[in-house]
Amino acid sequence: MSFSTILGQDKTVKRLRALIETGRIPPAMIFHGAPGTGKFLTAVEFAKAVNCSHTAHRERPPAPPAPDENDLFAAAAAAPAPAPEPEPVKIHTDITDSCGACLSCLQAASGAHPDIRIVDTAFQAALLDEDESANLKIDTMRELTRWAQQKPMLSAWKIFIVRDAEALMPAAQNALLKTLEEPPPGTVIILTVSKKTSLLSTILSRSCMIEFGLLPRTAARTLLEAQGAAPDVAAALAALGGGSLEKAAEAGAFLKRVSGLRPGDPSRIFKFSAGLPRDSHKAREEVRTLLDLLLAKTRAAWRAADGPAKIRFTTLLRRTLDLRRMADRNVSYLLLLETALLESEKAGIKLEDLIRTD
Ligand SMILES: [Zn+2]
Repeated sequence: MSFSTILGQDKTVKRLRALIETGRIPPAMIFHGAPGTGKFLTAVEFAKAVNCSHTAHRERPPAPPAPDENDLFAAAAAAPAPAPEPEPVKIHTDITDSCGACLSCLQAASGAHPDIRIVDTAFQAALLDEDESANLKIDTMRELTRWAQQKPMLSAWKIFIVRDAEALMPAAQNALLKTLEEPPPGTVIILTVSKKTSLLSTILSRSCMIEFGLLPRTAARTLLEAQGAAPDVAAALAALGGGSLEKAAEAGAFLKRVSGLRPGDPSRIFKFSAGLPRDSHKAREEVRTLLDLLLAKTRAAWRAADGPAKIRFTTLLRRTLDLRRMADRNVSYLLLLETALLESEKAGIKLEDLIRTD
C-alpha cells in the first residue's frame, strides 16, 4: 500500500508529497471533501510516508540457546559470539512515499504503529469502555493531548488522524485547540471532515486545509472493482455514487434491497424502508442519498417530458426538493422516504427506476 492506491485525487496527493519533500509538515491539517472520496485512506498513506525510514527491516537472527549449567563441557567452552546486527539496507525509493518494507511501514500495515493513532468513535468506545457514541468527547481529546506531549516511540513523527471530525463536540474541539495552537514538536494532527461548518472557526484558522474533490467516474469504478464488485455492477454504482464511494456503497445496498422485492407488491415501499440501517445517523444518510437519486431521476424525466407529463414532473420536482431540504432538518427520515417514494411512484417513477443507470 502506498499513494499509488489512492485514485482520483492526483492534485491533492501531489500537494501532500510536496509537503513531505520539503519537510515542512503542517502540525494541524484538515482533509476536507465529500464522504467517500478517500480522505481517511489518504491520511493513513500520508502518515506512513511521513514516518517511513526507507530502510528494509530485517529480523535479527535468534540468539543461540544459553549453555546448560549442568553440562560441564558446554559451560567450559567459550561462549559463542553474539550474532552481528544485520546491516540496514537502504531502499532507494521515492522519499515522498512509503516503502512498505521498513519497520515503520510494517507496523503501520499491521495497524499497530505506536506513533500513528486513529481516533474515531469506535476507538473512543474502547478507550472509555462504553458503547459507541455518535460524538467524539472531551475526554478523548484530552487523552489525545496527553499522548501528543509524549515522545514518538518508533518514528520521527507522532501522527493523529481524527476520523470524521464533524463528530467532535464543541467542548472537545476547544480541548483540542491548545494542542493545535502550540503543537509539541514532531506532532501532526489530521482531521478528516466532510462539513467544514461543523468545526469552530478557531480550529479552521489554525489548520492547513487540504481539499478532496469528487472522484472521477473511472477512478470510482476501478476502486469498486478492487473491492470485489463485478465490472457491470461497479460501472452502475460508480454512476449512481456521483463521485463518492460512500454513496456508491449506499446505492449498492439499495440495489440489493430492491432486487429482493417482488415487483407489483403494493407494500414493497414499506418493506424497502423497513430495511434502512438501524443506526439512525446512517439511516438518515441513506435517505438523503435516495432523495438525491430521486431528484436526479425526476429532473431527467422532467427534461424529457412535455404536455401534461411536464406539469406532473414539475410538481414532483418541487415536492422532492422540499423533502430533500427537510432531510437536513430534524424530521422523521422514515416518513420522508415513504412520502417521497409514494409520490414519485404516483407520478410514474418507480422504486426500481432509481437505481437504473440507462
Ligand atoms: Zn517504509
